[in-house]
Amino acid sequence: MKLQSTIAVLAAFLAASVSAPAAGKINVIAATEDLAAIAREVGGDQVTVESIARGYQDPHFVEPKPSFILKLQKADLLLTVGLQLEIGWLPPLITQSRNGKIQPGAAGYMDMSRFCQILEIPQGQVTRAMGDVHPLGNPHYWLDPENGRRMAKALADKFSSMDAAGAAGFAARYSEFDKKLADAEKNWQAKMAPFKGRKVITYHRSWPNFCERFGLDVVDYVEPKPGIPPTPNHTLDVINLMKREGIKLILVEPYFDLRAPNKIAQDVGGQVVVLMPSVGGVKEITSYFQLFDYDINLLVNAFQKVK
Ligand SMILES: [Zn+2]
Repeated sequence: MKLQSTIAVLAAFLAASVSAPAAGKINVIAATEDLAAIAREVGGDQVTVESIARGYQDPHFVEPKPSFILKLQKADLLLTVGLQLEIGWLPPLITQSRNGKIQPGAAGYMDMSRFCQILEIPQGQVTRAMGDVHPLGNPHYWLDPENGRRMAKALADKFSSMDAAGAAGFAARYSEFDKKLADAEKNWQAKMAPFKGRKVITYHRSWPNFCERFGLDVVDYVEPKPGIPPTPNHTLDVINLMKREGIKLILVEPYFDLRAPNKIAQDVGGQVVVLMPSVGGVKEITSYFQLFDYDINLLVNAFQKVK
């Protein structure tokens, strides 16, 4: 009897130690799958990483779930996109987690926008009339691989400050990521080179960093203003603009209604391209590299098809 209860206690102890976050590893929770993917590259087996939003979801609007609070309760480090992208859903979850380590301003709260090149920072006053504009600049900055590199470096430094004994591992993994990214960028630039300067329409302002890096010119949006659904008048303006300038491609994020883009494409003899803004947008995109591979292949095929 005594032996049996000892075994039971031992079994319970083993089970608990298996399900608890692995000892010695930094437990990272990322707001989005893109940040999680970069954290995995740099953290390797020295960290555990989970994301809150899924890559196929609109990151401006994520439905809060109790399971998110549980994840945040156990986090050592929280990565946010910042620039108010998650303002509609993340702040109450952080508060409700009551995890002092990851509250804004604490050492475990890491706003990744601070390390990146940010575009479209509004000049002057931001008013409601401008739509749901991001008043601190465009938060879709992870779609420039140079910003991916900046985030990876910042994470290597941060992880090292949290786990000094593991610093060599983080440094080695960062330098491997840096090299792999440099090679990939050469390849992506070569693929996009024939289409430099091409004009495109995008649904939302998700692609300024991507388009600047890969030489595309975004001339208008399906949304009349950021966050505002298409209107017949604005749709007509877009159609006229595309006809006038011979623009053929409309790039759409996977979580938007395709009716307006399809109508525009039909009227101008163009094509809708559902481009993935995030890792996890589709099953085959499981890494930061695959995100660009996927989008660039899609774009190259679409450009070749329309002309
Ligand atoms: Zn946005």
